[in-house]
Amino acid sequence: MFDKVEAFYRPESIPEAVRLLERGKGHARLVAGGTDLTVEAARSVRFLIDLTRAGLSYIRKRDSVCTIGATTTLAELEDSTAIRALAGGLISQAAATCGSVQIRNLATLGGNLAHGSPAADMVTPLLALDAFVLVANAHGRSKMRLAQYLERSREHEMSRSLLVEVGIPDPPHGARCGWSFQKFGRTEIDISLVNAAAGLQLDGHGRVKWARLSLGAVAECPFRLLSVEQLITGRELDHTLLAEAGDQVIREVKPVNDLRASAEFRRDLSRVLAGRALEECVEQAGHTL
Ligand SMILES: Cc1cc2nc3c(=O)[nH]c(=O)nc-3n(C[C@H](O)[C@H](O)[C@H](O)COP(=O)(O)OP(=O)(O)OC[C@H]3O[C@@H](n4cnc5c(N)ncnc54)[C@H](O)[C@@H]3O)c2cc1C
Repeated sequence: MFDKVEAFYRPESIPEAVRLLERGKGHARLVAGGTDLTVEAARSVRFLIDLTRAGLSYIRKRDSVCTIGATTTLAELEDSTAIRALAGGLISQAAATCGSVQIRNLATLGGNLAHGSPAADMVTPLLALDAFVLVANAHGRSKMRLAQYLERSREHEMSRSLLVEVGIPDPPHGARCGWSFQKFGRTEIDISLVNAAAGLQLDGHGRVKWARLSLGAVAECPFRLLSVEQLITGRELDHTLLAEAGDQVIREVKPVNDLRASAEFRRDLSRVLAGRALEECVEQAGHTL
């Protein structure tokens, strides 16, 4: 466990948390719900900085952007009326699939994104929603697209940065829109073997006007399948196009073998879940394949 920890801080503001993180010189770790951090229990950690009193638990609508503070729990996302109303409840649905109710009461959105798991269930829908993040560090604050944050985290450039909030610009809405989150795990409460999120807007003739498709647990981090989005945009999504999209999904994913599943199984599952997600979107948008 954390047998080398010398101090546990509870900052009450972002600047204070950033200062403590910087002062730790690589030996300080932020802690939110602690559900990932305690499993990891790295022995190099000497200072823990609890974020739960830093004022980052909120869900707000500012202009045309919904902002979610980093320490907002997955249970709060599951229950929030505003989040349930956003993009057909995509984020609430994803939150509801994460672990048990006990885990969701502790686990935060910021922790899910910052931990960097390829299977993080909140990342996939947020990519489909063009989310961006606000981060704070010793150099100030900066805003970047979620995909860029994931990339920079993988390069270990974010270890002294605090994720402040996630922003979601107003997505397309109305009767011709559909959204879907799909997850397959070994059990109801296990992490994803594969997860998928999709959003579609159809035009008056049933053709795809706007498309988003993202997948998780099949590469180093969840990602958007831009080539599939391009392939289906401007066309009517029927069984033939869905099969073409599935073939393209298979070409894009780079799953690994691990104790939960083989790469081959994950590849097949990617096609299946992406197909189900797109099909559900079409149905919600008032069409059938
Ligand atoms: C039994 C179990 C089941 C689980 N099931 C799922 C599941 O189904 N789906 C899923 O996606 N996840 C699952 N998880 C993983 C975990 O619960 C989530 O990833 C959770 O959202 C992490 O949030 P946290 O607040 O607990 O993070 P913490 O454990 O507190 O932190 C995780 C990491 O993020 C860093 N961090 C935390 N907050 C910030 C911040 N604001 N800025 C910068 N860095 C930060 C910490 O330093 C640490 O490195 C499960 C975990 C357990 C133990």
